[in-house]
Amino acid sequence: AFLARERASFARANPRSAELAAQARQHLLFGVPLHWMNDWGTPFALHVDSAQGALVIDADGHTLVDFCLGDTGAMLGHAPAPVAAALVRQATRGYTTMLATADAAAVGQALSERFGLPFWQFALSATDANRYIVRWIRAATGRQKLLVFNGCYHGTIEDVFVDLVNGQPAQRDSLLGQVHDLTEHTVVIEFNDLPALEAALKQGDVACVLAEPVMTNIGMVLPEPGYWQAAQVLIQQHGALLVMDETHTISTGPGGYARAHGIEADALVLGKPVGGGVPCAVYGMSARLAERAVKAKQDAPPGHSGIGTTLTGNMLAMAAMRATLAEVMTPAAYEHMLALSARLADGIRQTLARHALPWCVTQMGARTEFQFCPQAPRNGSEAGHALDGELEHLIHLGLLNRGVMITPFHNMMLVCPQTTVAQVEQLLTALDEVISQIKAP
Ligand code: PLP
Repeated sequence: AFLARERASFARANPRSAELAAQARQHLLFGVPLHWMNDWGTPFALHVDSAQGALVIDADGHTLVDFCLGDTGAMLGHAPAPVAAALVRQATRGYTTMLATADAAAVGQALSERFGLPFWQFALSATDANRYIVRWIRAATGRQKLLVFNGCYHGTIEDVFVDLVNGQPAQRDSLLGQVHDLTEHTVVIEFNDLPALEAALKQGDVACVLAEPVMTNIGMVLPEPGYWQAAQVLIQQHGALLVMDETHTISTGPGGYARAHGIEADALVLGKPVGGGVPCAVYGMSARLAERAVKAKQDAPPGHSGIGTTLTGNMLAMAAMRATLAEVMTPAAYEHMLALSARLADGIRQTLARHALPWCVTQMGARTEFQFCPQAPRNGSEAGHALDGELEHLIHLGLLNRGVMITPFHNMMLVCPQTTVAQVEQLLTALDEVISQIKAP
C-alpha cells in the first residue's frame, strides 16, 4: 500500500518530468539515458533542470538534497566554481584540436604528486581507462588473463562481466551481444580469500588483478586487516600486476585509498569526479610498468595501438581536470566530507536501532551505506545475498518524495563539500518517516 501511495504521489508531483519523458520515448530507445528510476515502478523518470553544490532542482521546480551525486561523478558537488570558471575560460578557445594545451602537462604533474605514480594517460570514462590499462598490461606482460573479484564492476569493459555461480565462473547472463565466452580470459574469485587468490595465480597466465581496494558495486565490502598486504606479495610472487580502480574509493581521501593504506599498485584508474563531473578519466603506471609498456610499443609493428580515441585529452576535459586537482579536491574539502559522513553513519545507526532493524552500516570516507544484513559482508556472494531490490526501491522512492535523493544502486549515500549538517538531518528525518510508513500495518 505504501508503494502504491508513493508511486501515485510521485506521478502527481512531477507533471513536467512526465511530459519530457513521453517526448523522449518517441525517439530514444528505452527513453532517456540513465532511466534507472523506472526500476522503481514509477511511470517515468525524473528530469532535472539544474544542479548546484549539494542540490538538484528538478524539472517541476522541486529542490532535492542530493546524496547520490551522480554516483560519485559529482562527489565534489555539482558545478564546482573553479571548474565552472575553467570551462567558461576554455569555452571560446576551442575544444578538440587533437593537440594538447598547457593543461595536459600540468595535470600529469598534479596526478603524479597526488597519487605517487610517475606516468599517466587520459581517457574519456573510467570504463575506457580500465580497458586501456588492461590492454597495456597484456602487452607489457605478454599474458592474457585478467583476475577479478566476484560482484565487481569496473564499467562496461566486457572482460569483467563474469560471476561465480555455485562456485563456478560463468559469464553474466544479462550481458547482451557478446561474441565469445569471457571466462576463457577472466578468472573470478571471492574477495578476502587469500588461498583462492593463490590458487588462481598458480594456474598461470594472469596478467593482472583488477580490483577496487574496497568493493563498492555489490554493496560495500571492506578488505580484512592485512588482506591487501598479503595479496600484494602473492601477486608479485606470481609475476602478475595489481591495478587499483579508485573511481569510487577516491572518496576516502585526496590521494585515494591505496596510497593511504600502503598498497603499492602497479597501476591506478580514476574516473568520474577527477574532472569535477566533466567526462574524463585517467590511468597511471609505476615506473617499472611504464618501462615495460614503452618496450612493448617499441617492439610492436607501427600502426594504431587500439588505445586512445579522438576526443581523449580534449581541451575542455583538460581544463576541468586541472581546476579540479588544483582547487577542488583539497584537504579541506575532504575534511568536511569525512566528518559529515561519520555523522551521517552515526545517525543511520541510531535510526535503524530505533526501529530494531538488524541492518549493518558501513562508512568509507565520504560514502555511507546500510545493507540488509546484520554483519558486514566479507565478499561478493555475502553482499549479493543481502540485496533486496524491492525494499531498496521502496526506500529510495519514499526518500525522493520527501526531497532527498540517494544512489539508486544499494543504499549508498555520498556527501559533498557543500552538504550541510541540516541536510544530513533532513535525510535522517525522511528515512525515519519512510521506515515507519513501510512498517505500518
Ligand atoms: N570503475 C568503478 C569502480 C565503477 O564503479 C564504475 C562505475 O560505476 C566504473 C569504473 C565505470 O565508470 P564509467 O561508467 O564512468 O565509465
